[in-house]
Amino acid sequence: MKMRKHKVRDLRWLFVCGLILQSANLHAAKPNVIFIFSDDHATQAISAYGSKINHTPNIDRIAEEGALFQANFCTNSICGPSRASILTGKHSHKNGFKSNGNRFDPNQMTFPKLLQKVGYRTAVFGKWHLGTNPMGFDQWMVYPGQGSYYRPDYLTPEGRKAIPGYSVEVTTDLALDFISKQKKDKPFFLMCQYKAPHRNWMPGPKYLTKYDDVSIPEPDTLFDDYSQRASVLGKHKMGIDAHMSFFYDLKVEGHEDKRYAKIMYSFLGRMSKEQRHAWNAAYGLKNEAFRKSNLQGKELVRWKYQRYVKDYLRCVAAVDDGVGRILASLDKLGLSENSIVIYSSDQGFYLGEHGWYDKRWIYEESLKMPLVMRWPGKIQAGTKIEKLTQNIDFAPFFLEAAGAEVPEEIQGMSLMPLFKKKAPPWREAIYYHYYEAGGHGVPAHFGVRDERYKLVYFPRSKEWNLVDLKKDPQEMQSFHDDPAYKETLDQMRAKLGDLQKKYGVETSL
Ligand code: CA
Repeated sequence: MKMRKHKVRDLRWLFVCGLILQSANLHAAKPNVIFIFSDDHATQAISAYGSKINHTPNIDRIAEEGALFQANFCTNSICGPSRASILTGKHSHKNGFKSNGNRFDPNQMTFPKLLQKVGYRTAVFGKWHLGTNPMGFDQWMVYPGQGSYYRPDYLTPEGRKAIPGYSVEVTTDLALDFISKQKKDKPFFLMCQYKAPHRNWMPGPKYLTKYDDVSIPEPDTLFDDYSQRASVLGKHKMGIDAHMSFFYDLKVEGHEDKRYAKIMYSFLGRMSKEQRHAWNAAYGLKNEAFRKSNLQGKELVRWKYQRYVKDYLRCVAAVDDGVGRILASLDKLGLSENSIVIYSSDQGFYLGEHGWYDKRWIYEESLKMPLVMRWPGKIQAGTKIEKLTQNIDFAPFFLEAAGAEVPEEIQGMSLMPLFKKKAPPWREAIYYHYYEAGGHGVPAHFGVRDERYKLVYFPRSKEWNLVDLKKDPQEMQSFHDDPAYKETLDQMRAKLGDLQKKYGVETSL
């Protein structure tokens, strides 16, 4: 009898050991995910994408050791809506967050909640901008609204607190602290979300004089006259020429309009004495030279372009350094092998193309989102993905990578099959819809883009535009009324209708 009891106990013990081992293996198989995300970082300002204006060695490193997505797009080119599409894997009309100023319904399905259910520890630090507090995160510290570049405030489960320093560096510190405290009992999912390089492009102390001795090349379309396309383009309010505040945007005190000056003084008021001193030293002499030069007309636009783009690139340099610190920390902690590292941004941005700053339009510079990803053993180094991908594809990819089920309501496609040698069946076109009528003079519009063409409709003015990206990559002309494009126009209208039906878009042309 005794012998038999021992045998049963031994068998039970073996069974328990097996379960423990199996569970440990499962954990080992689940990759950590470090999702580094910035705000308004255009592909034109990333050297892996062929930038003519700057170098981003650390973001490039992710692409070199993994994959670079050459045709990745947002669903709706503005901060909050892009973030809501990422969290839900759905277009704006399905997740309810169509415009900045909306409030994200935190009770809906989001991928971080589903990652928690399959054993992930989740965290988000930095910009959030969804109007309601994060849900589905074990740890979170996020900016109220847009956040501040200097001594940023963070909302936390324990209340609000300001942390001295430069926002990119402070958010990186929070991310590194989280990574360093992870035990190997659970996989983790970390969102490190920078404010930079969002308007008003305030560089950190280390970067204030970077690019002082160079002239940044101008885009070919800096003096676009908006002819040969929809009339609404010419009614924008996002021109480097006419719509930048001298003080708030260009850092020249004295010319400013009062509304923006008040905000700028509050930003400067967040600096320490040393930071303010460095700021004044960096801009003081340059601004004095500018005042004396009395520039007019195109020369003034050129000066504004230089000031704007240099400040933007100074903010990008801080982001790239933050990425470098995170990669170095993963190497040091031995986490690089079993971690997916991603860099992306919520949409692109105009860096003087079409005479613009800001985003919103369906045109390439703001429609594109950077996306580079490293996953040793799963993604071959130097992979280039040409298929048309979108921010709604992130959620199903994260879920598949974590071994979680992808809910049917998700509209995106997991990126996973794109890493296999054999090309999978994939979408032929992406759907875009911008709802925030009025911001920067950009009217609501929607459209479809395939590998070569883009069809856009502007409901308010009832105008169609058809872009041929092969013939006219800078999108300076619409071919919608050209008889030679009649067949293409019909095909693109059919693609637009199909996608609206597929995604459940209710709209009447
Ligand atoms: Ca943004």
